[in-house]
Amino acid sequence: MDYALLTLKCVLCDREYGPHEVRYTCPDCGEVGALDVIYPLDSTRHTDSPLSIWQQRDLIPIADNPLPGLKAIGGTPLIMPDALAHLAQKVGVRELMIKNDALNLTGSFKDRASAMVVAHALQNLDTHVIATASTGNAAAALAGCCAAVPEAQAVIFMPASAPEAKIAQVIVFGAKVILVDGNYDRAFDLCTEACNEFGWYNRSTGINPFTTEGKKTVSFEIAAQLHWDVPDVVIVSVGDGSIIGAAYKGFKEMFDRGWIARIPRLIGVQSSEGDALVYVWENNLTATMMTPRPSTTLADSISSELPRDRAKALRGVRDSQGALVRVPDEEILKAIPAFASQTGVFAEPSSAIVFAALKPLLETGMIQASDRVLLLVTGSGMKDIRNAMRSVAALKPSPTAPTLGSIRNQIRARDDKRYE
Ligand SMILES: [Zn+2]
Repeated sequence: MDYALLTLKCVLCDREYGPHEVRYTCPDCGEVGALDVIYPLDSTRHTDSPLSIWQQRDLIPIADNPLPGLKAIGGTPLIMPDALAHLAQKVGVRELMIKNDALNLTGSFKDRASAMVVAHALQNLDTHVIATASTGNAAAALAGCCAAVPEAQAVIFMPASAPEAKIAQVIVFGAKVILVDGNYDRAFDLCTEACNEFGWYNRSTGINPFTTEGKKTVSFEIAAQLHWDVPDVVIVSVGDGSIIGAAYKGFKEMFDRGWIARIPRLIGVQSSEGDALVYVWENNLTATMMTPRPSTTLADSISSELPRDRAKALRGVRDSQGALVRVPDEEILKAIPAFASQTGVFAEPSSAIVFAALKPLLETGMIQASDRVLLLVTGSGMKDIRNAMRSVAALKPSPTAPTLGSIRNQIRARDDKRYE
């Protein structure tokens, strides 16, 4: 869609702005006043082009063809209910599905947002330096997307404590990397200050409306892959809240245009060791009332003390009749091998959490045995090998003598039927 025809609208006060009037958040509401990009209602549903974030071209802010290096972003596999029937029965739901966004360009869902922001910066704003603060995945995604587009340059602010694989990714992609001696929230503020000083375009989650435009495309893909018969429930991990907020926007845009019959209930999951949005949800507070809450979770991708996309996240959960729940770090660790060994999907802690949430959600009645449930996997387990190894520490075998005899002892002596 031609960017000049779009409107930016504040999620909190409904004030509308022209496409070039503001860049980030609502000037009246401040940083918490996230903006929605509003499209004409008479959009056409496209099913012809390959599945990717660019497919529904009437509902993205890019008029031209996608940048060649970013053409294949999105279009990730959806593992269908028939492949997971056994697990669905074991868990106790009618159908289970997995949208596997770990298979994106840089191994995470964040490629959707970064690719859209890079395209927007180059094609609509004529800006080529793009900066972001991130605990890792958004950083790797922006660095990777900029590496795929010769004219774009990434500047990355990340906490020095980010997992090594994620730091390695941004460096090998050739981004300018600033490892901040502080937490994510400090890196976020520093990135904002630097963008103001140097005129870079700020991709940081929560303040950039176009990250939502990239992230919402997951809902378009889920609908298309299920022939527009969407699940009852979509379970999403929540840190800053931008993915759940964007998933809602995608479903709502399709619902408003009659492409789908209903909006799935969106259930957000946080760690008990970093539960700022669950706390707000349980206490019926609003986004503007939120104050920082400490976060120590091992799931670095969803560790946020003051979730930046809180307004959109709360709207998405409330308007879809969803919920926000917490799962302890201990259960997240257990879920990494449990999920991988039963599905073939190796998820990082912040994605394994959605599988860990199934049990408490069923026990509390937040999901029913009759529900068709989709789990959104947002990051590859390869991103955080340290926690993956922690999760299977007890299973790590000691070295075996290199003889067939020692193998025979291990297999036969234990009478393990699986190997017969
Ligand atoms: Zn406002």
